[in-house]
Amino acid sequence: MDGPSGSGKSSASRGVAKALGLRYLDTGAMYRAMTWWMLEHGVDPADAGTVAARAAEPEISSGTDPDSPSIHVDGVDVAGPIRGDAVTGAVSAVAAVAEVRARLVAMQRQIIGDGDIVVEGRDIGTVVAPDATLKVYLTASAEARAARRNAEVAGSTVEAQQAALARRDRLDSTRKTDPLSMAAGAVELDTTALNLDEVIAEVLRLVKE
Ligand code: C5P
Repeated sequence: MDGPSGSGKSSASRGVAKALGLRYLDTGAMYRAMTWWMLEHGVDPADAGTVAARAAEPEISSGTDPDSPSIHVDGVDVAGPIRGDAVTGAVSAVAAVAEVRARLVAMQRQIIGDGDIVVEGRDIGTVVAPDATLKVYLTASAEARAARRNAEVAGSTVEAQQAALARRDRLDSTRKTDPLSMAAGAVELDTTALNLDEVIAEVLRLVKE
C-alpha cells in the first residue's frame, strides 16, 4: 500500500492485515526511526554526507503485529517521539539519502520474507516488493488529507497541516532516489469520500478479485 501522507494508508493497512490474519509493516516508521537517531546523535538532517556515513549505525527493529505495532532504535521504544514535529520535519531529507534507503529497503525485504504481510510506504510497489500479489495506491484530496492529520495532532490547524503535507509531498516525489510514484499494475483508490471501513472493504474486495 503506497500513497502520500494522510491518504489513510496506516489505518487501512492495519485494518486489512487484521481482517486477513496477516502481518503488518509500517516502513514510514523505519524512516522516522532513522531520523530520530540522527537527531539524537546531533547529525544535521540536511547534511546528506554525514547522514549517509552514519546510516549503518542505528539498530532498528520493527514489530509486525497489526494489533500492536512497535518500533525500537538501539533498544529504545521510539513509537511516540517519531511522530513529533522534529522528526516529521526532518524525515523527508533523511529518506532522500540513497544509503539510508538501501539499508532500510534491505531490512524491509528481510522482514517481508515469503510474504503474508501488508506493507505500507511510498516505494513498496515500485521498489521493495514489485512482485506483490496486490498493489494499492491510496490517494485523497489535499483538504481531506490535511483534515485527517489535523484530527490526529493536538493544537494544530488544517491550514498548517496542509502546508506541512504539501512540503513533504514535494520533497518525497522529487527526490532522486525512488521518488513516490504509482507502481505499474497498482490499483488507485481515492479515499476522499470514504470512511475507514469502506476503504478496508474495498481493499478486501480487490484481494479476493
Ligand atoms: O508514512 P509516513 O508519513 O510515516 O512516512 C514518513 C516519511 O518517510 C515520508 O514522508 C517519506 O519521506 C519517508 N518514506 C519513504 N519511503 C517509504 C516510507 C516512508 O521515503 N517507503
